Amino acid sequence: MSKKVQVAVIGSGPAGYTAAIYTSRAQLETTVFAGYQSGGQLMFTTEVENFPGFPEGIMGPKMMMQFRVQAERFGTTVVDMHVTAVDLSARPFKIWTSLPEGTDPQKLNDMTTEQQQELEAKIKSAEPEYLADSVIIATGASPIKPGIPGEAELSAKGVSYCAVCDAAFFKEKETYVLGGGDSAMEDALALAKFAKHVTVIHRRDAFKASKIMQDRVLSHEKISVLWNTTLEEIIGTQKVEQVRVKNTQSGEEQTLPAEGVFIAIGHRPQTSLFVNQIELDQHGYVVTCQSASEAGVAKAQAALEDGLVTYPSMTSVEGVFAAGDNVDVRYKQAITAAGQGCAASLDAERWLERNSSE
Ligand code: NDP
Repeated sequence: MSKKVQVAVIGSGPAGYTAAIYTSRAQLETTVFAGYQSGGQLMFTTEVENFPGFPEGIMGPKMMMQFRVQAERFGTTVVDMHVTAVDLSARPFKIWTSLPEGTDPQKLNDMTTEQQQELEAKIKSAEPEYLADSVIIATGASPIKPGIPGEAELSAKGVSYCAVCDAAFFKEKETYVLGGGDSAMEDALALAKFAKHVTVIHRRDAFKASKIMQDRVLSHEKISVLWNTTLEEIIGTQKVEQVRVKNTQSGEEQTLPAEGVFIAIGHRPQTSLFVNQIELDQHGYVVTCQSASEAGVAKAQAALEDGLVTYPSMTSVEGVFAAGDNVDVRYKQAITAAGQGCAASLDAERWLERNSSE
């Protein structure tokens, strides 16, 4: 038989656990679906120095364990399973966590759309494991990893996906940023405050980033650009020591000394579960009145025409809220995700008071 919960939080990063701390303290029966590895992106970082309350810094995995313990202290149930399907078309919302026998969870991301649809239909032919009065989506976003030789091996050993988080560890170091969008510009500028030098590696002869960000980068004395260049390999044993780059026009390769490599080629929100169920923008981010994107601003404007926005973190489906990096195209910080988790939980609590289902 399906288990009934008042609040189902899908995702276990700072947004998910903060939401759960709040809803549990508000005496709402809360279940966090943590995935196979609880804790989200911070499980892959080393030291976190910019989360207030930890003046000496704290290791990312330790911090996420503390988030979990704090949520459990107030009664949150943490289920260490992935949500495999949801049905948000009617209340209570349906949540599945099982996979048909013989399905390899490692291969889910490699499936074609048809294979995914077939699998979803199979999962949904069984009774859902959970029914939820409200849902908070906090599934996050992950940095796109290009899979360059040496990248995975040297991750957190000089390879980073977040300059705002890690730039301060690269004082007076020789650093590289891969990418040509606003994230790459922002990372290059953040790094230039600390590093000896920053070289942006971009595959084309023009940046995609906004003009103002490009101008800042191009006029910065500590930043240079390798145009029409691809990053072929990151070399090092215990830490990053060199990068091998290739000019796409001449085919010429160079091996250059390096101590840090920042990959900034975009993020992918983890929202495939919700396609065709709630409104997503063209990049797959969940749209709420708080989304710092065109779709979010349009939604907020439309809502404001009827007066104040009652539930800013609510998605296009009543009773389904969203928080953290799956909504946030811009900031993607642990502290902003935690703040959004808090906001979503307060919205969910208020909405449940007014709309509790029998
Ligand atoms: P984008 O998708 O905008 O840019 C990605 C960049 O990475 C592009 O230059 C792209 O190259 C390059 N790239 C993609 N794949 C590869 C690859 N495999 N190898 C090498 N290079 C690759 O992502 P961003 O994260 O920069 O930005 C996402 C959104 O967030 C944008 O809308 C942006 O404006 C916004 N943003 C805003 C900020 C701000 O306003 N402060 C800060 C950060 C982001 P190519 O140009 O050839 O396509």
